[in-house]
Amino acid sequence: MSLRLRLTIIYSAMTGGILLLLGVVTTALVSIALIGQTDEILAQTVNRITASMHVDQRGGPTVFLPQLNPAENVYVQIWNTQGNLVSASPGLSGLQEPLDPAGLQAGKAIYRDVYISQSHLRTLSMPVELGGHPFVVVQAATGLALLDSVRQSLVDILIITALVATFMAALASWFIAGQALAPLKTVTETALQITHADDLSRRIPYRGKDNNEVGQLIFAFNETLERLEKLFVSQQRFLADVSHELRTPLTAIKGNADLMRRMKGVDEESLTSIEDEADRLTRLVGDLLLLTQAESGKLPLDLKTVELDALLLDVSKEMHVLARDRVQIKVTEIDQVQVNGDRDRLKQVLLNLVSNAIKYTPQGGQVFISLGKVGGQARLIVRDTGPGIPAEDLPHIFERFYRAEKSRTRSKTGGFGLGLSIAYWIITHHGGTIEVDSQEGKGTTFCIWLPLLRTAED
Ligand code: ADP
Repeated sequence: MSLRLRLTIIYSAMTGGILLLLGVVTTALVSIALIGQTDEILAQTVNRITASMHVDQRGGPTVFLPQLNPAENVYVQIWNTQGNLVSASPGLSGLQEPLDPAGLQAGKAIYRDVYISQSHLRTLSMPVELGGHPFVVVQAATGLALLDSVRQSLVDILIITALVATFMAALASWFIAGQALAPLKTVTETALQITHADDLSRRIPYRGKDNNEVGQLIFAFNETLERLEKLFVSQQRFLADVSHELRTPLTAIKGNADLMRRMKGVDEESLTSIEDEADRLTRLVGDLLLLTQAESGKLPLDLKTVELDALLLDVSKEMHVLARDRVQIKVTEIDQVQVNGDRDRLKQVLLNLVSNAIKYTPQGGQVFISLGKVGGQARLIVRDTGPGIPAEDLPHIFERFYRAEKSRTRSKTGGFGLGLSIAYWIITHHGGTIEVDSQEGKGTTFCIWLPLLRTAED
């Protein structure tokens, strides 16, 4: 069953139910009020009659019955204890039966509804005692035709009103639910179109107000689509980049192998080249594996106390070998700094930053390294006097496979543009930040901020 139909049924059933309840309560209250009024008239009549009865005790009790002339539409009978009709009001001259046979036997005042020749009557039977003994029973009755017709009209009006109101409620809720749910139909259709056409660039149009529930749903759905599209595009780019990076060394290996086959001998230079390319491939696969593990949350960090200063000296020593006499490495400031981190991963970051600085700085340049505590954080700076990074490349430098235009011309030491992405992941997962500042022709500065190790005294 559709949501629209279900809402319509619920609303109209509720309207009908409420009106039905209202009808039952109203009819009951009106009936009670009218019956009360009728009973009051009967009681007044009977009381008037019994009050005017008197007994003459002289020569045995003799009962003097009053003249029975009750109000219009009220009939009275007086029955003695032997079951004989003693007196009756003029309107009942023909009736020899009691108005209410059961009331005669009741022994107490009792109101009852009776039917006499299809007329609906309300009766009051009142026993009257004389000297502590039952003497006569006075019965009064009045027709309930007016009350019945009032009650019937009320029921008719309420049924018609309830039916009309239920029909109107059904119509209105069908229309309103239709209007409210119409955008959902568009959402479903667009979602299906996106699935069938495999087109994540589509968005769901919505012209209503954004702050209602459907508007919010469409907004959220469009945001999901946007994110999916971005992920999809980045995945495609990632695949293209990986294939491109794999193809280059493989082509070189194949070229060198072909060359050796044609020369019919082992060529030392070609073998070295094959070895270099194989090393490059191994590095690439290693970096890719690390990055995918990191991004899928499967790269655990082995957190321990790390002496950053000792780590930095290690790295600078290793890097002197790479720099040789080409570039000068200077540790300008070193403070004793402890952080909570994964030593190997932090070393990987430092190696990447310093080796980049050496790699991109031309002969005679300098690389400055410093480590200190600033504002309750560890600050590590790697600065070089190299060519700098163009402003247009700077915002993308931490993206996977991103290499500034000048670094794209591949050399044997050329990287894949993965090092900084890995460094970014490692530092942010240590609760730190990594920043870059660079000006073309003036050099590049990388700055890492890490939270200091909290000691017991802290
Ligand atoms: P790669 O392996 O290519 O060095 P990275 O992710 O480490 O990859 O660096 C990305 C790019 O950032 C490099 O290709 C280079 O263009 C630029 N870059 C990084 N460090 C420096 C630096 N110190 N000086 C100039 N350019 C740099």
